[in-house]
Amino acid sequence: MGARKIAEQFAKEGGWFIAFIMLPTWDYTNEVVYDVDKYDKLIELHSKDCREAKDAGIEVMCFAGFHPAEIDNLLERGISPKEVRNYTLAVAKVLGEKCSEGKIDGIGEVGRQHYKVQVHSALIAQEALEAFLALAEERDCPVQLHLEQVSGFTAESISRLANAIRIKKDNLLIHHSTIAVSAEAKELGMWSTVLGKKEVISAALERRGSDLLLLESDFIDDSRRAGKVIYPWEIAKSLKSLLEEGGITSNDIEKISVDNVKKFFGI
Ligand SMILES: [Zn+2]
Repeated sequence: MGARKIAEQFAKEGGWFIAFIMLPTWDYTNEVVYDVDKYDKLIELHSKDCREAKDAGIEVMCFAGFHPAEIDNLLERGISPKEVRNYTLAVAKVLGEKCSEGKIDGIGEVGRQHYKVQVHSALIAQEALEAFLALAEERDCPVQLHLEQVSGFTAESISRLANAIRIKKDNLLIHHSTIAVSAEAKELGMWSTVLGKKEVISAALERRGSDLLLLESDFIDDSRRAGKVIYPWEIAKSLKSLLEEGGITSNDIEKISVDNVKKFFGI
């Protein structure tokens, strides 16, 4: 669909803000990119897409990152672990510069795989994550994290890492959280997003309240997987329908879809 059309349709349903997150490289080029300059160009392309979406009259934030699946696919392509690691750190450097230059507003998705991988792939992802957090701290960039969702581990592990790196925890957002991890992230002073489906929103509010909570669609804009995970405007529909049924208060809606958004994204 493209960012602009998405923004237009979202605005029609009452949406006022979207954060666009860069997709993995193969979604743009049909193969995993192993070239820092090419990666740089994809960030530019994404940043241009984000700017065009602003024409729809909504607020837009633009995040670019390095999805942990890039690491698996590079290793699968036969690139050595050492080269993958060095390449990952080179991309991290580019992302830090883009964030300082204001070409992107934050870094994401970065993080760890949520599925079974080779042990060195997971270790490279962890090392990369530390590098991303360190440069985000230096440049005061918010970070959107893609992580495994292990209750009792994931949020605590990120919190410990954040303390060691001294990055502000309220600059960190754990995306597509389970309700359990979202509750733990909140206790530790970190943001999280849950999917904007009715049953997920009401369960999240009931379990952990509305502090440090945001909603997401995780929409991938791929015609081969249309509507996956949900369309962004389904979030607005979920909220309207919950409000009609008395499953949410207008105060909670105001908080999670306006006040919290302004707080995390610094609007
Ligand atoms: Zn993700």
